[in-house]
Amino acid sequence: MTDPTVRADPAAGIPVPARLTVLSGPSGVGKSTVVQAIRRHCPEVWLSVSITTRRPRPGEVHGREYFFVTERQFSEMAGAGQLLEWARFAGNYYGTPSAPVAEKLRAGLPTLLEIDVAGARQIRQSIPGALLVFLAPPSWDELVRRLTARETEPAEVIRRRLEAAEAELRAGTEFDITLVNTSVDEVCSQLVALMTAQPATPVSSAK
Ligand code: 5GP
Repeated sequence: MTDPTVRADPAAGIPVPARLTVLSGPSGVGKSTVVQAIRRHCPEVWLSVSITTRRPRPGEVHGREYFFVTERQFSEMAGAGQLLEWARFAGNYYGTPSAPVAEKLRAGLPTLLEIDVAGARQIRQSIPGALLVFLAPPSWDELVRRLTARETEPAEVIRRRLEAAEAELRAGTEFDITLVNTSVDEVCSQLVALMTAQPATPVSSAK
């Protein structure tokens, strides 16, 4: 029987493995900007859409950036084992629905999760073959500047995100690779190159 994580590349006639990559790093480092650029320019990459209990920011669309859910809906999904990982971040819950990830990996699509460090650690445990990529800021001062420039967040939320960012920066050594976010275009092409060079993720471990 053929390996379900491998699909044939009709052009080259060679198998192309499905890949699971995790993009993580401190809040404010620019993960979502990188993800937006991938959404626009790299249709070959499938981006997982998380559920969250936080409120939508202006311009965010339900089902695109996130599925916005209530705490009750979140805990029902978590309790039913429907999340591949989940974490509480700056007062809200975030989680990755498992079924779409397993489905896309089975279909052979390079799959990207943009999640926090706590979530990345859970993926490391449950799917050891996943590639963990850490996005680092050019400097701590630059990260503070980016976080405090976010006028959509109240001061208390920014303070909590800065606290979390300090701890998250220290976690960089746990990752397979670090990319420094000096240019969004560069990070995107490095990330896509990594995703297409990575060995297959066994679907059986992606619940
Ligand atoms: P934001 O509220 O700025 O969109 O996201 C806050 C943090 O939650 C970011 O670090 C983001 O990567 C992380 N995050 C988003 N979705 C998920 C998820 O499904 N699981 C986990 N663990 N973290 C997530």
